Amino acid sequence: MIRVPTYIVFIGPPGVGKGTQAELVSERTGLPHISSGDLFRENIKNQTQLGKLAQSFMTKGELVPDSITISMVQDRLKESDCANGALLDGFPRTPKQADELEQILKTFNGKVNFVPHISAANQVLIDRLGGRLVCRENGHVFHIKNNPPKLEGVCDHDGSKLYTRDDDRVETIKHRIQVYLEQTMPLIEYYRNKGILVEIDGSRDIENVTNDILTAIGFNK
Ligand code: AMP
Repeated sequence: MIRVPTYIVFIGPPGVGKGTQAELVSERTGLPHISSGDLFRENIKNQTQLGKLAQSFMTKGELVPDSITISMVQDRLKESDCANGALLDGFPRTPKQADELEQILKTFNGKVNFVPHISAANQVLIDRLGGRLVCRENGHVFHIKNNPPKLEGVCDHDGSKLYTRDDDRVETIKHRIQVYLEQTMPLIEYYRNKGILVEIDGSRDIENVTNDILTAIGFNK
């Protein structure tokens, strides 16, 4: 029997909790969490050529050009841990990238199966991003108020230091939300037309949101 991989694309504005939710859904489903932002940050940390190219776009809150982004994600999807599928967070971010993804997944006999669209009011996003802390080692995400680490400034999972992302400054946050509205929002219609979009209320507690997503993708027992 041929196993068909499952691909889930998380859509939502910056700060809505896509990364946190993709991580939790990954723990429950066993599918790997692929965050294009984390892949870029990893490259920046390791000072690769790709990282150097991406850095200036990221600091400004602009999208990194497709020529760099698409092949980076494609390479990641080819890795063996993605044999059963993957949870994509931050990619695709435009309908053009979604078309490219469709072509890539065809080569793995797969397609996007579900698209949780997580939404919340703008002020909720700004508050969440303003207090966000990320760990240096593996990108685990915390929040000063809503999801604090057990020990201040230290990651619960790997003990590495927590920091505030460069692009989580108020001015950049506003620009990133604008970029989302202009370039990524059209994806909602794109996936709704394919009948695979599921609406998720991202203003609820972390645990409730995870349960809503697991139910929507048919993983909740
Ligand atoms: P994120 O961690 O998803 O908030 O992404 C951080 C930054 O990485 C974004 O503001 C973009 O500069 C860049 N980035 C991440 N994913 C993409 C993508 N699919 N296309 C273009 N740029 C991206």
